[in-house]
Amino acid sequence: MRRAVCPGSFDPIHNGHLEVIARAASLFDEVIVAVSTNYAKKYRFPLEDRIEMAKETLASLRGIVVEPVGEGLLAEYCRQRGVSAIVKGLRSSSDFDYELPMATMNRQLSGVETVFLPAESHYLHLSSTLIKEVFTLGGNVSEFVPRSVLKRLLAGPASG
Ligand code: ADP
Repeated sequence: MRRAVCPGSFDPIHNGHLEVIARAASLFDEVIVAVSTNYAKKYRFPLEDRIEMAKETLASLRGIVVEPVGEGLLAEYCRQRGVSAIVKGLRSSSDFDYELPMATMNRQLSGVETVFLPAESHYLHLSSTLIKEVFTLGGNVSEFVPRSVLKRLLAGPASG
């Protein structure tokens, strides 16, 4: 059983995330979408909503589990859950520069490998931050996010 993890805050999950998660699911037997919370960070959506949106969106894909990852070390989480790889989407060289030291550190801490998947060209520009900004300024984000996310964005601001 080859188990991978796709970690992130998913605030909210968007089509770029979904594409990478689907590709990870085609490479591994099980993919855990591990939703993180950093209590020093301000999120638009509380953890429960971020998990709920990911679950709703990924319900039709096989071999995917969505769960909270907590605040501890990802390397330790991977060790405890028998995860063999962390899967990350790469949008740019700055993503790579940011991810490389973490990948090496995680391997040294727990032996877990990081697999980088190049982001699909259609989604290279997508980030949760930019989508929230465009939405807040009145832009149409319907082609960037799944339906359940759009519904929640339209329902109004949440805190968490
Ligand atoms: P963070 O933990 O930095 O808040 P996000 O929740 O925004 O991260 O994203 C989680 C992961 O999803 C990123 O580390 C990256 O691997 C991947 N990702 C984010 N945006 C995209 C995209 N547009 N295309 C492909 N992968 C992406």
